[in-house]
This record gives sequence, structure tokens and C-alpha cells, in this order.
Amino acid sequence: MSQVQCFPSGPFETNAYLLSCSETGKGVFIDPAPGSAESLTQAAGGVVVEAILLTHSHWDHIGDLKKIKKSFGIPAYVHKNDRDNVVSPGRDGVPLMMKIEGVEPEFDLKEGQVISVGHLDLKVIETPGHTPGGVCFYIEKEKILFAGDTLFKGSIGNLSLATANRADMWHSLEKLEKLPPDTVVYSGHGPSTTIGDENWLPRAREIFS
Ligand SMILES: [Zn+2]
Ligand SMILES: [Zn+2]
Repeated sequence: MSQVQCFPSGPFETNAYLLSCSETGKGVFIDPAPGSAESLTQAAGGVVVEAILLTHSHWDHIGDLKKIKKSFGIPAYVHKNDRDNVVSPGRDGVPLMMKIEGVEPEFDLKEGQVISVGHLDLKVIETPGHTPGGVCFYIEKEKILFAGDTLFKGSIGNLSLATANRADMWHSLEKLEKLPPDTVVYSGHGPSTTIGDENWLPRAREIFS
């Protein structure tokens, strides 16, 4: 069974997550947002946290990456198309609202890759559009999706940023639309939702164009 703890942090209330497997006590952090280190560290008491997974490299999702990486001594995973901005935050052309320290991520994420966290298998779904290296993490057995800034309750990620590509976004949303309707979606900002509740997904292109 999965356990999901969410900590909205930083100026954009970015959701930092601790996902853990209740049978094995193993876990991962997803998107250590600025100001999330303390809450994540506290929540991780008793959990063996094995890695940090990034849905994408925008500064509001990696703000406490260096801090967390250092204190836990664990590797970071990001898609190669978003890697540069993790190494040198701000390089993606999105203005930084605070100083963000870069790190060298250890591992790439790619389509179809499976990351095991105890008994949980997280499948990587490439969802470029908001950024070129955006990904979602899907746990099929539990019907859970970590969607980053690709999909929010009632909306999608910002397409006006330097990192955005509209055509890619429509294609990525088509992938998410095919997931089971009862899949619970944990987004990069705001409350969770389900794929079925976001029944506008097939019309996303007309709505957000
Ligand atoms: Zn973003
Ligand atoms: Zn964000």
C-alpha cells in the first residue's frame, strides 16, 4: 500500500511529496520545493528514503533539492531534457524568485522506465509540454499518478513560459486521458483530483489554446 504525504511549500505553494510503501517502510521524495526540507525530513522519520524524483526542473520544484540530497545522501532522478536546469537553475529562461542551488542529478528518467519503491512500481510517463523533460509517475496497481505541472484539478500547466511547447502538451494530455478514470492525480500545485473528474481532458486543446 502506498502512503502519500503532501507539503505545499514556497511562494507558489508547490506540492512536495513523500511517497512511501507501508509494507517495507521505503520511500521517495517527489519535487522538493523551496522551504519543504524541514517538513519532508520530519515526515520521513521511520521511512527509508531512497531517492528524489523530479517531475520537472522548474525552480519551484527543486528549491530544496540540494539541501535534501545532502542531508539524506540519496540520488536524484530527472529527465535528460530538464537536466540542465537542475545543474544550473535559471538556465531554462524562467525567472528565479530566489536563489536556487543546482545539483548534478545521478539518473535520467525515460518513458516506460520503472522505479521500484518497496512494493510500489512507479512507471515513468514522459509528458513534455510545460517543460521539455516533464514526466509523470504512475503506480498502476494503486491507480495513483504524480502529475507535476502537466495536469491540475480543473487546469493544465502554464504554457506561456520559455520552457513550454503547446503541441507537446496536447499529446501528453492525450496519454493521461487514457488512464483509468478512478486514477487519483497528485498535482504539482493545488488539491488532488482524479482522471475521471477531469472530464474536459479530451477537449483540453480547444479550452486552453
Ligand atoms: Zn512548472
Ligand atoms: Zn510548479
